Amino acid sequence: MFESSIIEISRTAIKNNLSFLKKHLNNVEISSVIKGNAYGHGIEQIVEIAEDSGIKHFSVFNVAEAKRVFDKAKNSPIIMIMGYVDGKELRWAIKNNIEFFVFDITRLETAIKYAKVLKKKAKIHIEIETGLNRTGLNKKELKEVINIIKENSENLEISGLCTHYAGAESIGSYYRIKKQIRNFNATKKLINSQGIFPKKYHSSCSAAAMTYPEARMDLVRIGMMQYGSWPSFEVYIHYLNTIKKNKKREEFDAEINNPLKRALSWKSRIMSIKKIKKGEFIGYGNSFLAQEDMFIATIPVGYSDGYSRSLSNQGRMIINGIRVAVVGMVNMNMTMVDVTNIANVNKGDEVILIGKHGDIEINVASFSEISEQLNYDILTSLPESIPRKIVN
Ligand SMILES: *Cc1c(COP(=O)(O)O)cnc(C)c1O
Repeated sequence: MFESSIIEISRTAIKNNLSFLKKHLNNVEISSVIKGNAYGHGIEQIVEIAEDSGIKHFSVFNVAEAKRVFDKAKNSPIIMIMGYVDGKELRWAIKNNIEFFVFDITRLETAIKYAKVLKKKAKIHIEIETGLNRTGLNKKELKEVINIIKENSENLEISGLCTHYAGAESIGSYYRIKKQIRNFNATKKLINSQGIFPKKYHSSCSAAAMTYPEARMDLVRIGMMQYGSWPSFEVYIHYLNTIKKNKKREEFDAEINNPLKRALSWKSRIMSIKKIKKGEFIGYGNSFLAQEDMFIATIPVGYSDGYSRSLSNQGRMIINGIRVAVVGMVNMNMTMVDVTNIANVNKGDEVILIGKHGDIEINVASFSEISEQLNYDILTSLPESIPRKIVN
């Protein structure tokens, strides 16, 4: 192994997660959200596994990501850009049947211009403002968009009407989300009354799809859960309550295991081992003082690899089936761990940063908890330069 660390993606885990979601969400169509390098998992790897699991719809943030899906995919899936695409990139998108959100008039006008040149229909999703207050057309803009659509129907396909919720993973947003759903349905009526009938209505991320069944509509945009993490602990508890209501006590007890499986493991190897005398400080500064004679292993992974500095003196890794603690500060390319209590430990031994050995596991949620980051944050900070490998 020449890399300082590698990321393994479990095909079985992703397949399991997608089939659980499909079943639990009553077979609504799933768009696999693969922005942020597929939440750190690798776009190419996830496209391969997702297609293998029957996925025919992918959501990305920008054209660069759309191109990677386009190049990798085998089954001509629908590719939908939810974020940035402007200028000449719109031409590429329209030419290749890539669908995209429209939340401003300029993008719509540019799209129509290229659609005319290409003699093709631009496939647009009208994104409306319902209460997130990020992107999305407000009432006045929507009126204008409706008029433009009516005048250019030969150059536009209305592939969707959509919105995004303001924190569906938190019960604190309950009333805000309910109001967004009402706003969405009112706008749907308005658009229909103008003779515009989008092919698909969609609004849900993982949390909304799990928690607000009425928000599932024709398509759900699933990111985090396909990778095996819950958007928040609240969403998991909500899920447990739902199945508890519909099951006998014994069935519930039997099924209480987490239905999601972690898809990503992150592994490295011990680079060197050193004996430290009691009373010495370890690493930069004086944040760790050896209280006894110790053995310290250096791991060639640091904050430049996405191993957060907030894991200094806090993080845990697994070596030879034993959980070990990070000592001292996480450096740019290296981290030290205490291996004093491992009987037989050698340079080159495998180190698990995220993953499992026997009964001992460091999952993404526990990793996030110690580093005080969101699951989303940790996964997407894993640099693209770390090699990804699909395993079973
Ligand atoms: C990221 C994103 C999603 C997916 O969110 P998850 O919580 O990861 O399921 C859905 N819709 C939009 C618009 C997004 O940006």
